[in-house]
Amino acid sequence: MKNLIPTAHAKNIFEINIEFFKAFNIKTVMADLDNTLDSYLNKTPSKETFNLVKRLKDNNISIIIVSNNSEKRVSMYAKILNVNYISRAFKPFPNKINKYIKKNGLKKDEIIFIGDQLLTDIKVANKAKIKSIYVDEITTKNAFITILNKKIESYYKNRLKKHNKFINWEVVYGNLKKS
Ligand SMILES: [Mg+2]
Repeated sequence: MKNLIPTAHAKNIFEINIEFFKAFNIKTVMADLDNTLDSYLNKTPSKETFNLVKRLKDNNISIIIVSNNSEKRVSMYAKILNVNYISRAFKPFPNKINKYIKKNGLKKDEIIFIGDQLLTDIKVANKAKIKSIYVDEITTKNAFITILNKKIESYYKNRLKKHNKFINWEVVYGNLKKS
């Protein structure tokens, strides 16, 4: 269960203040697509997502979409936003992410992964040894995970919640400021 624990929890990717990223010296945000940036039903980015990408770029933070979804889905979405992407990422296996990090000369301690699934997004972040934020899924309908996977996900979600392993991002930020 240890590699399912995120660095912080947020209601959604949009509420996280830019100061949080700056405090951690984050230069790259790796974001899951479906139910993190947008509902899986949205083929094109929402205005909120455009604003988020602009806000990050204005602060010299790049965003890359890391999705297990198809090249077609991910490339179309990412190209509209004009951001890099990894499709068919095979999360929770960190191979593709590690390759991207190496190829682009990124530092792991300057990256944070944001996603709505413990078993893929948070697990891959921990396996790749990068920070992570677990967010609530945008829509509870999910075409890509089976009922069984969903049951496993909520089992771990409840267990981690019970053990206070989801620390709100504002609390994490506050603690960092204090130290
Ligand atoms: Mg997702």
